Amino acid sequence: MAERDYYQTLGVDRTASNDEIRKAYRKLARKYHPDINPGNKEAENKFKELSVAYDVLSDSDKRKLYDEFGEAGLAAGFDAEKARSYQRWQNQSAGAGGGYEYNVDDLGDIFGDLGGMFGGGRRTRSGPARGEDIEAAMDIDFLDAVRGFQTSLTLQRRVECETCHGAGTKPGSTPTTCPECGGSGGKPVVQGPLQFRVSCPRCQGSGQLPGDPCTTCGGTGRILRAETIRVNIPPGAEAGKRIRLRGKGEAGVRGGPAGDLYILPRIRPHPILTRSGRDLSMDLPITVGEAVRGASIEVPTPVGIVKVKIPAGAQSGQRLRIRGKGVPAHGREPVGDLYLHLMVRVPKDEIAQDVIEKIDRAYSEDVRKDLRL
Ligand SMILES: [Zn+2]
Ligand SMILES: [Zn+2]
Repeated sequence: MAERDYYQTLGVDRTASNDEIRKAYRKLARKYHPDINPGNKEAENKFKELSVAYDVLSDSDKRKLYDEFGEAGLAAGFDAEKARSYQRWQNQSAGAGGGYEYNVDDLGDIFGDLGGMFGGGRRTRSGPARGEDIEAAMDIDFLDAVRGFQTSLTLQRRVECETCHGAGTKPGSTPTTCPECGGSGGKPVVQGPLQFRVSCPRCQGSGQLPGDPCTTCGGTGRILRAETIRVNIPPGAEAGKRIRLRGKGEAGVRGGPAGDLYILPRIRPHPILTRSGRDLSMDLPITVGEAVRGASIEVPTPVGIVKVKIPAGAQSGQRLRIRGKGVPAHGREPVGDLYLHLMVRVPKDEIAQDVIEKIDRAYSEDVRKDLRL
């Protein structure tokens, strides 16, 4: 009998929530309940299976053990710590290239000592697998983030092994039937009064031993390498908003696609500009005369110098909107605007004193007449 998959029994994903598991169980339990199916042996067995699966998956501790070690993890006296240290040992020997060569007697020792710890937890998949995603933080200057830019990034990345082209086996060597389980992929384990069947530890349930592992990559099909890649950061990068670079993550396994690279921008503040989405803001100092008469002023923006008309009678704090001079458009993101906050600067010079007094007399009404709380 192959090891039962409790998730499959309940027809739920491995990521299912407690609620989803409960609902799935209730629905199936109603269908297969012995009261509804009197004398139906098949329904009765199905109902029992459902109960066992639900008992495990509805209990977060049991579910965790099951996820990690399979049914073996649920056996009485199972020692998760020992099992993990065994798995580490197994991973290390595999990494050293000796993973397929350990001798059966040694294995029997460890096996007897640890009891039924071999489960569905660690089973090598034989099909193609997508490479993992990589996330990398990047410090970006304010204006670079606004305008977008090209840069290169050096990172440690798993790439396809050139010796075996990702297959993980030594070129010229072929897979063989696993002698431990005779190709069945399973193995009975007795622990005290308990007997259960677990996946074969030697072939990890596949029934086949791969050819000799490639010595360059240790059988993994990939090697870790520092790589410099060119990346295009589009205009409008925002702090904390990940930028996805498709296919620039870890290489896939056995012909699977590469993962993605995610850039996590950290934007350095600018002394003058601030930003909100695709709009920019800055203070624009003007003189009293420019405020009174109005003026045409040259203002630097991220996309070059623009001429801005200050209306006559402009006030400090007044906001002018310069359309299309914010963050440039990109993809579906529209171009932003630049907001100028007018700041009337008064002269501090002694010479200006009598002029200022004349100006003060020119106010036709109390500037604070509306200032009431
Ligand atoms: Zn290789
Ligand atoms: Zn086997």
